[in-house]
Amino acid sequence: MSEGVAPRLDLLGTGNAFLPRGRFHSMALVDGMHLIDASPTALASLRRAGRSPADVRTVLVTHTHGDHVFGFPFLLLERRYISDRDGLQPLTVVGAPGVEARLRHLCELAYPGSLGPLLDHVSFQTSRTGALEGGWHYEMFEVHHDAATVPHGYVLRHEGGASLAHGGDTGPCATFEHAVGSAALSLVEMGVPEWVQTEHHHRPSDVAALAARHPDVQIVVTHTFVDGEGSGPVTVSTDVLEMPSNVQLASDGEAWLWAGTTWNRCE
Ligand SMILES: [Zn+2]
Ligand SMILES: [Zn+2]
Repeated sequence: MSEGVAPRLDLLGTGNAFLPRGRFHSMALVDGMHLIDASPTALASLRRAGRSPADVRTVLVTHTHGDHVFGFPFLLLERRYISDRDGLQPLTVVGAPGVEARLRHLCELAYPGSLGPLLDHVSFQTSRTGALEGGWHYEMFEVHHDAATVPHGYVLRHEGGASLAHGGDTGPCATFEHAVGSAALSLVEMGVPEWVQTEHHHRPSDVAALAARHPDVQIVVTHTFVDGEGSGPVTVSTDVLEMPSNVQLASDGEAWLWAGTTWNRCE
């Protein structure tokens, strides 16, 4: 981020694993360089937003379910053959222990032998806190989701005061609750409709209750089952409970700008 430019959050994709009508898989981009997850639609959503994969400095991995990381090999492949052929652009992957081995396995399955040279230049970072380019600092915390995917969430804080929480695909849990309460904006993945019985995702009633407990936090719902604006048949439902006023359902491509004390949706 150049000096004087407000922190920016781009929601490149906002759908759950099943790509409800018109939505790409959930993926967020901070200041054009820090990606939260590398979903299967990563390249498509970066292209649609006019962003180059070579500008990505960090991928913060929430967990290793396919809808969150299966775009990683394509990110590397694109950088190697299109946008960073000389391998000059650094890339750091932040994730819990176990993420590196799974991404290496995934890359080898996808393009045997091809991505190794790039992977060797990726910096894998498992520390729970750390600094990111552009004045950002991250904090990683465990969340309540399928344990086999080493699920974690993040709080990102900017030196200028901006903050945001991201729970990954978590269900309600104390660590995410604490993170939400400590940030100005929280991305909440509402992956399943009300009738699905699960502890591992937020249902609409869970989101409504969370938002009611944190009325001063902007709650932005992503990774959603709710159909988008595209054409084609309705996949699940557009029915969502009435939500508190601090909840907004995100759409693909929308952006939020830090305005000094709050985040404002700008498009
Ligand atoms: Zn997911
Ligand atoms: Zn998941």
